[in-house]
Formats: sequence, C-alpha cells, structure tokens
Amino acid sequence: MSRFLSTKYNTLKAYTPGEQPRDRRYVKLNTNESPYPPDDGVLAAVQAEASALNLYCDPTCKALKEKIAEIYGVEAENVLPVNGSDEILYFSFMAFCDESRPMAFPDISYGFYPVYADINRVPKFEIPLNEDFSVDYRDYCGLGKNIVIANPNAPTGLCLPLWQIEEIVKTNPENVVIIDEAYIDFGGESAVPLTKKYSNLLVVQTFSKSRSLAGARLGFGIACKELIADLNTIKYSTNPYNVNRMTQAAGIAALNANDYYTENCRKIAETREYTASMLKKMGFEVLESKANFIFAKPKGISGEALYSALKEKGVLVRHFAKERIADYLRISIGTREQTDILISSIKEIYEEKARKEK
Ligand code: PMP
Repeated sequence: MSRFLSTKYNTLKAYTPGEQPRDRRYVKLNTNESPYPPDDGVLAAVQAEASALNLYCDPTCKALKEKIAEIYGVEAENVLPVNGSDEILYFSFMAFCDESRPMAFPDISYGFYPVYADINRVPKFEIPLNEDFSVDYRDYCGLGKNIVIANPNAPTGLCLPLWQIEEIVKTNPENVVIIDEAYIDFGGESAVPLTKKYSNLLVVQTFSKSRSLAGARLGFGIACKELIADLNTIKYSTNPYNVNRMTQAAGIAALNANDYYTENCRKIAETREYTASMLKKMGFEVLESKANFIFAKPKGISGEALYSALKEKGVLVRHFAKERIADYLRISIGTREQTDILISSIKEIYEEKARKEK
C-alpha cells in the first residue's frame, strides 16, 4: 500500500503503454506508429517555433483549429485540439459521465477506456464482441448510455460501416456517442460529416498514426459547438496550454502536407495486405484489418511464446494477456523492409522449433 496515494485510487489499475525500449534497436511493430518520418515542412515549422519557447502557447490553438476545420469541412468552433487523443477521451469521461451515467464500450477494445472509467468512478458497461471479434452495432442501438467505440477497433482492426455508426448515434439521442477514429485513415469511412447532423456525436482523431506525429502528442475532436464547449470546460479546468507551441506548429505543417500522408497511408495499406497474405501462408489466422496493424493468431505456437521469440530476434510486436485474445498478436504495419524482417524471423522461429521437436 502506498503511503501517500489517495485511498480513492487504492484499486485503480493503471494503463500499461506498449514498450518503448532503449536497450537496443528493434524493428518496432508494437505501438502502431507510422514507419515514415514527418514531412520536411513539419521539421522546419517545429524548429522555427522553438525560438519562442519562452512564451506560453496559444491556449485556443486558433490557427491549428482553423486548419483542421478547413481540411475536415467543419467550422473552427467544432474543433478541439488536444494533447494526444487520449486526452480528449479522458476529458469526455470527466465531462459526460458520472455514477449514474455509465460509459458503454466493447469488452475487447482500447485498454484505456476501462481505466478512464475507473479513475472517474464511472460504471463500465462492457459489451462482448461477437465470436468473430466484430462489434454488433445492434447491441448499441437504443442503449440509452454514453458510448465509446473505436472504429476501426483496436486491437482487432475490424471496422464498422458508416451506416451502422449512424444508427448507433441516431438511436441514442440523449447520450454522447464517441467514435474513436485513431485508425480511420487506413481504410475506414469517417463519421466526421455526421457531426453536422447529430449533436450527440463526438468524433476523435489523432496525428499519432497516419500523420507520423506520435511523439508530438496531438489529437482532436470534432462535434457540435455545445459539446466542444463542454469539453473546453474540462480543458480550462485542468490544463489550458495542453497543446504546446511546437506541436501546434507541427500539426499545421502536417495538414499542409496532406498528399505526403495520404500516400503513406496507401503504402501502409498495401504493406498490410502483403503482410496478411504472408502470415496466412504460414498458417496464421488473420483478421481483416482496416487499420495500420493486423491482429493474427499464429499456428502451432502460443501468442506469448512467439512474442518473446520475436523480441529476442529484435522484432517487437504486442501481446495482450487477456482472455479470448491471448493467442493473438497485434502487429503494426511497418515499411516493406521491416515486414520482410518480421516474416523471415517468424520463419526462423518455426524452423528452430521444428528442429528442437525432432
Ligand atoms: N484510441 C485508440 C483506439 C488507440 O489505439 C490509441 C493509441 N494508443 C489512442 C486512441 C491514443 O492515441 P494518441 O493519444 O497517441 O492520439
């Protein structure tokens, strides 16, 4: 028992982020980062901004908000930039939930949702995924609870079509429905246009994946202006300067280089299909992913054993020790070169295993 931690956190189980080891260079396929560097314009913008670090940044993120609004076809008042999309998810649990207003989400999804519920003493309403790991949208229609769904879902990579998202939003008009689109740029259809039609919809996106800015910590939400105002109440009650000066500049520059990132997403989707086909050839069961990772069950070896063997060979992937998915690995999509190293490492592991078993 900690001496100083408030007793209200006695039973809190903190989120465990993916490993960011510094002991050696890994082929890093464990935290869904982009394998491609930021655009040169981003580097120049960050450098230019660094000389003004003695001054606080713009707490309203005016220029960045306007740029996001332009790209996504909404107004600046509909946008809230945040310190990574994790922050707006946290703000949402604080703003919209309490002991009598639970949050519903799939039982297998982003591991932070239950933690945000627990730290805010919000009851969790966890809805089991179907046997095939898909979200059954009918489970959420007319639910009468706040809802958060990652679309595509993590760690499965499976994606709901937009009409199913709309049904969920439409049939829960008195509750907030959050669609976490961290991975939407890799093949799904965004719900952003629906924010004009439904005042209870909050769409959350991030610059961490498709825009190569995981280290800068930048995400944003898009919703009707009243909902954004509620989130601003939380932001201005916790950390008004939540998006630092260099990150604001990086975000604008990244949006100015839209074509570069669109091309990267295309390459990642292509490599994803290649990786899936190679793994299937080796007997893996591979879920159909619309994200920048794939979720796959290896043949003849446990998920955990393959994770460890790959780590020894310098390839990092993600394993979740959770019932129902413990046999699976989540593998981020890297460059084609990184994928070839992954595939040849798995082949070696299978060969070594076969030799030992002889
Ligand atoms: N949502 C989902 C589904 C994620 O997988 C992640 C990445 N860990 C996030 C949100 C948070 O991303 P970030 O805070 O880097 O924007």
